[in-house]
Amino acid sequence: MRLHSCYSRFSPRQMPANPPKTNLGLYVHWPFCRHKCPYCDFNSHVSTTHDNAAFGAALCQEMTHMAALLPDRRALTSLFFGGGTPSLMPPNIVGKIISHAEKTFGFAPAIEITAEANPTSIEAQVMTEFFHAGVNRVSMGVQSFDDEILGFLGREHTAAEALSALQTVRRHFDNLSIDLIYATAGETMASWRKSLSQALALGLPHLSLYQLTIEPGTAFFTRQRTGEQLHLDDDHAADLFELTQSLTADAGLTAYEISNHARPGAACQHNLNYWNAGDWIGIGPGAHGRFCLGSEDPAGMQRVGTATRRSPAGWLDAVQTTGHGIDTHTIDTATDYAAEMMMMGLRLADGVNIDRIEALCGPQEGWLDRAAMTQAVADGWLDSQKDSQTGSDTQLWLTAAGRLRLNHILAMILR
Ligand code: SF4
Repeated sequence: MRLHSCYSRFSPRQMPANPPKTNLGLYVHWPFCRHKCPYCDFNSHVSTTHDNAAFGAALCQEMTHMAALLPDRRALTSLFFGGGTPSLMPPNIVGKIISHAEKTFGFAPAIEITAEANPTSIEAQVMTEFFHAGVNRVSMGVQSFDDEILGFLGREHTAAEALSALQTVRRHFDNLSIDLIYATAGETMASWRKSLSQALALGLPHLSLYQLTIEPGTAFFTRQRTGEQLHLDDDHAADLFELTQSLTADAGLTAYEISNHARPGAACQHNLNYWNAGDWIGIGPGAHGRFCLGSEDPAGMQRVGTATRRSPAGWLDAVQTTGHGIDTHTIDTATDYAAEMMMMGLRLADGVNIDRIEALCGPQEGWLDRAAMTQAVADGWLDSQKDSQTGSDTQLWLTAAGRLRLNHILAMILR
């Protein structure tokens, strides 16, 4: 991978033809929150004084710039408002961004347009206006149905408020997901079973269920360094993970990714595009994007990664001055892209298809340790489907035992 610390605009005319065809997503980062949660390492900033209209206009301006970097015009298959707290965005700005995106890229017929929201009554009401602006999926950060755990996580809402907010949002949105965090210190099998059962009883089509991790730079990280125990040890967390798999499966939700569970047809298309190593553009402070430039010969393909300035004020200033806030960009080779596809794709229940990797990247040498892969299959961590003609592995996925060891398996099989 080559890293470039300063960015000069790519010229589409210099790009090779024949870009690989994957889905195209657009990620819009709204960086503002009402307060900072102690576990959060997202690029989120507490602010009540920023100029909403200026940020909305700058997001449209940066979108135009990013679209011109792509080697082709392709309709968006997904649009995702993440943050920060997008449910604090004025709905008219959400509407403007959606129509600018439609004008700039075009929309695929079944485009998924998601907004993240916090479960307060005001934000739930605002979701009605988001719906009229074109949002068709909501991902709500409920985090727990236990008030004690919500207090520990520094959330502003109670379990009762979350339930009421969900009721409000369901009037408009069938495609609704909630996030829950588990494996906090002191959490037992019984308490997690109760919390998760309560979530499953709602009959939602999608749940994102994450174990608490302590990330550098967070308030929890500082507290942990003073010796405070904030999450369960690996063995207890693994027990809760197993319970999660069994309760969600019994409720008809498939674990299509390690932490994500959905009814058939309700998987998050935007996140699936990340895990399938598709193309996406990221706009807003601290947003990342990745897309392929393509080549007549897939092995010569290049994949660009962009990262914009993290500081909202710095990003806004850059966009207003130069039309974009890109701070650094990377250029990956076809071999790097093949490894990315393996790293991301193994998170999915369906795993990765080696033929697809070779179709997008060309036949690759030296990126995959096939002997180690065979060993991981023999150890019961990976499963594979073989091509009936050649006998070589075409589809590769993690077994239940492998899901607990993904990083170790990747270190084994990727060179
Ligand atoms: S509301 Fe979300 S983005 Fe904002 S600080 Fe809390 S976890 Fe982070």
